Amino acid sequence: MEILVKDFVKENTDKLDAAGISDASVDIWLLLEHFANIKKSDYLANPDIVLSVVDAEEIEEAVQKRINHIPVQHIIGETEFMGLTFMVNENVLVPRFDTEILVDEVVKYVGDEYLKVLDMCTGSGCIAITISDMCDNATVVASDISKDAIEVAKENNQINCTDVTFIESDLFENVEGIFDVIVSNPPYIKTEEIENLQEEVKLHDPRLALDGGESGLDFYSRIIKDSKDYLKTNGMIFFEIGFDQAEEVSNILEENGYHDIVVKKDLSGLDRVVIAKN
Ligand code: GLN
Repeated sequence: MEILVKDFVKENTDKLDAAGISDASVDIWLLLEHFANIKKSDYLANPDIVLSVVDAEEIEEAVQKRINHIPVQHIIGETEFMGLTFMVNENVLVPRFDTEILVDEVVKYVGDEYLKVLDMCTGSGCIAITISDMCDNATVVASDISKDAIEVAKENNQINCTDVTFIESDLFENVEGIFDVIVSNPPYIKTEEIENLQEEVKLHDPRLALDGGESGLDFYSRIIKDSKDYLKTNGMIFFEIGFDQAEEVSNILEENGYHDIVVKKDLSGLDRVVIAKN
């Protein structure tokens, strides 16, 4: 027996919708592509395209996981970030589209210069790896406190044929050398707000990657304070921030002698990146 993709998408999108999962049809198409190698463009070119029963059953199992709020990226085991593929699991934060704004800013700055870049709290390695991929002459080092995250990041470095050096380190503890650029998307959610996050994030992203302490600012304070010993004079620091943290992070930067502080917005018009010069 064969199943029309059209009917399958409708039925399973309805199931996810009914379970309160947002962007249901996007997820169904991701699952179809991953498990059955059928893309939406294939369907648009041939609306009568069919799905085998075996594939349908496998995807239905995946839909059940999605209904239980397991992130689609965890079900598939990978996600896309800046056009590259990243393996993800429960040990790393799933790379977010918003973080592409941060990478764009670093890539614009580094260009084809021979600069040394440090990505702090690298998680999946998405920031370091895309910078290494796009900036041919940059030397990229990345650190994370989590051994399990470093394992994922190393695998992503291989998948993408990039050349990042990874260090397991509690912030700067095991980092050596002096850098032209420090970039970080550190954990920045206030501890008490974690409870209010959607289940996909609260239960499936590592808490270690979310929790920024009582104020949400713990990592900015610690990184900025110690960064002075690892950043060249006139070197640049780039942070992703929460939408309401621009002022506080800018103040911490200023108190530590940084200048030329600039805040960049994301596509929704929310403050997303802070850049400063040492
Ligand atoms: N740097 C990684 C990312 O941007 C992980 C960030 C984190 O764990 N807070 O996705």
